[in-house]
Amino acid sequence: MGYLGGFLVTLRQIGKRQRVTRNYVKDEGGKSEKPMRRHGRHVLNRYEDGMEKCIGCELCAGVCPARCIYVRGEDNPPDAPVSPGERYGFVYEINYLRCIHCDLCVEACPTEAITESKLFEFSFTNRRDAIYTRDELLVDDEGLPKRLPWEDWSDAAAIVPNTSAWMRATAPNGDASYEGRVAWSGELGFGVRPPEAGQSASPPRSETARETSDVIGDEPPGHPEPWRAAH
Ligand code: SF4
Ligand code: SF4
Repeated sequence: MGYLGGFLVTLRQIGKRQRVTRNYVKDEGGKSEKPMRRHGRHVLNRYEDGMEKCIGCELCAGVCPARCIYVRGEDNPPDAPVSPGERYGFVYEINYLRCIHCDLCVEACPTEAITESKLFEFSFTNRRDAIYTRDELLVDDEGLPKRLPWEDWSDAAAIVPNTSAWMRATAPNGDASYEGRVAWSGELGFGVRPPEAGQSASPPRSETARETSDVIGDEPPGHPEPWRAAH
């Protein structure tokens, strides 16, 4: 009979306007701004020419502490290669019932194929939807993330420009003396991104740092590739 006490609590609240559940979008004045480095759901990126960056090496799966990535590599067909490497990831799955968004997979990837978008508002009504497949993770023909029915992209204009932003410091060891040296490979939809600035308060880079730099690339183009307004 103890459960009747619980019903009494409910009955006492009937007719009262005091609401406990709040809609954070409507009641809190809209969504908050997403930090540049928020870890959201992943994307699989492609080069500017459309080739897939993933080479099926399985390093991301090996480093994942939650064991939620499943990758199978396969040799590229010689007449229609999918990636510039010898192999490509022909099966790629992430189980979001297990992912803890630690980003170790992003750090481990040698080609920047896998990065995390800023999207974190997604929910599932069945377990199958929670396992994202290669087709769902791969960016579309414009280089932008696919929008799946159970994801909330209502603030896409704010979060898409930062999609695929690489989480790792753009300079080796996070050294600010390398700021201004492009370390990104060209990417469909976004081109070559400039490095993030202001990661550290270290003094400006010296010529010595320039000479010893192992960063690949030229000086930054000045401005990022404009994000296409149509999306
Ligand atoms: S973010 Fe972490 S837990 Fe999620 S897939 Fe990557 S390595 Fe695994
Ligand atoms: S996403 Fe990166 S680390 Fe994972 S299999 Fe593809 S190339 Fe390798």
